[in-house]
Amino acid sequence: MLFRSQYPDIEYPTDLTVWEWAFEDARHSPLFRFPPNEVAGFTNAATQERLDFFQVKEHSTQLCTALVKRYGLQETDTVSLFSQNTIWYPVAMYAVLRAGGKVNGASPAYSVDEMTHALKTADAKYIMTVPNSIKVALAAAKEAGIPKERIFLLEGEVEGYTTMKQLLEIGKSYGNDGQTPIYRIPKGRTNDVCGFLTFSSGTTGLPKAVMLSHKNMIAQCQQLKDVAGSDKKRFLASLPLFHISGLVRFVNWPIASNDECIMLPHFTMTAFLDAIVKYKITDLTLVPSIVIRLVRDPIVNNYDITSVKLIACGAAPLGQEILQELEKKMPWTGFRQSYGMTESCCCLTTHPPEFYSYKYANSGGMLLGSTTVKVTDVSTGRELGPNETGELLAKGPQIAMGYLANAKETAETFGADGFLRTGDIGSIDDQGFIHIVDRIKEMIKVKGQQVAPAELEHLLLSHPDVEDCAVLGVPDEYSVERPKAYIVLKPGVEPSDALGKALIQYVKERRVRYKWLKEIEYIAEIPKSPSSKILRRELREKEKRGKGGF
Ligand code: AMP
Repeated sequence: MLFRSQYPDIEYPTDLTVWEWAFEDARHSPLFRFPPNEVAGFTNAATQERLDFFQVKEHSTQLCTALVKRYGLQETDTVSLFSQNTIWYPVAMYAVLRAGGKVNGASPAYSVDEMTHALKTADAKYIMTVPNSIKVALAAAKEAGIPKERIFLLEGEVEGYTTMKQLLEIGKSYGNDGQTPIYRIPKGRTNDVCGFLTFSSGTTGLPKAVMLSHKNMIAQCQQLKDVAGSDKKRFLASLPLFHISGLVRFVNWPIASNDECIMLPHFTMTAFLDAIVKYKITDLTLVPSIVIRLVRDPIVNNYDITSVKLIACGAAPLGQEILQELEKKMPWTGFRQSYGMTESCCCLTTHPPEFYSYKYANSGGMLLGSTTVKVTDVSTGRELGPNETGELLAKGPQIAMGYLANAKETAETFGADGFLRTGDIGSIDDQGFIHIVDRIKEMIKVKGQQVAPAELEHLLLSHPDVEDCAVLGVPDEYSVERPKAYIVLKPGVEPSDALGKALIQYVKERRVRYKWLKEIEYIAEIPKSPSSKILRRELREKEKRGKGGF
């Protein structure tokens, strides 16, 4: 059976770009809906530098003009935003969208290898970055064939690179009348024009660039807005903007709802707590690993965090025990969970205000407006009913366009009937709450970030002592999950602790921290199907049984 949202279908403009929706449309833009002194903005938690949404519009217009007129940015070009959270991130994002380009987010902690892969996968033509990431940006740009003149600084200064300040001056130099025209969706097309490329490994294989359209983003913001309540909020952007949840919750959503958003450039527990107190944050959007810190780190007791009214959590499962501890520690807050994925432009479900309570926290919330889900039996594909557990398939205006330049995986994941295969196992109960119980896709989630086993397997296979390997997610107290590698050594190589440490180090030197291995185990053979696919379920079962044979 089809599970439909209990909420009315959303209404959203189908002919606008995200730029027009945010800054020009009288029905949706906060610039028209609120008096100028009530228009919210983005603030840097560390420096207090603030840009209200009028300034975001003005600066992104200037930046757009500089990129197009001086540096040749064209419609459909991709710009990689290789940066930590900053108030200049929205400016850059809107500048690129204004020109009809695509924005791609990349973790500022990526190694050269990872960034090179990211640039190539997203077919990026420009990079906007920050001083700490400039060396990696330059090396990766070289590998990906991007000239140094197309690497810009979102903030800060480094000799030899054009800064945001300079770009804005260049844009201004064309005068008000000389600004680049705004990209419009061509007549005869819907707004299914790609504006965002965000990485996800999907159900299998290496990270791919998920194509999200202007429509996806506008629809998702409208879906969330319809179930968000009308109270004034102050968000703390403590999740990275390069992940879909950060991009929606902390860049586009604040504009949709005209709420103040405080950007946290680097997450440390102290910076996080300081910002909550200083800016009287009302809404926290967290991943389970931060919730765990919030309930277990004694430093929290030194802070008055009673301004927080609502805690939202998603991106990975949150244990019951932690939820109970959280309720005990912060009983005055409401709680809601969201469930979704990059391929669904963030959320498929969330708790609406009438269910902002720890009482309902054991579910992932309810289907957003205009969202439909099927639950299917994993072995037979038969459609299941309420309270029956199977793979979740989802349809709605937030479902992505597909994977860039990857027709095979697009066809496998985005069905011809419009239903996205989530790779998650769950059920929907009689009241309409979703329950996520397992993941059948390969993806590992470490602190809410994706780790693709295939990526680490490729890397480990490049080590001279490794004959074969398989990587699996195993439970971890703080990160929820972490990767573990099963290793088959080359003939004649002896297993040892020293070699194990060397293999762990091998990954550390080449990959961003959240991809580091928790442990390795030597085995004689990786279980595989006749077509050489790793039988991950067998490994999982072995893992449950503890060390020992199959
Ligand atoms: P991402 O594309 O990085 O957002 O990852 C999406 C995946 O994270 C989903 O397919 C789920 O496996 C997992 N996930 C997201 N939200 C939840 C949740 N509330 N509970 C359990 N798992 C979740």
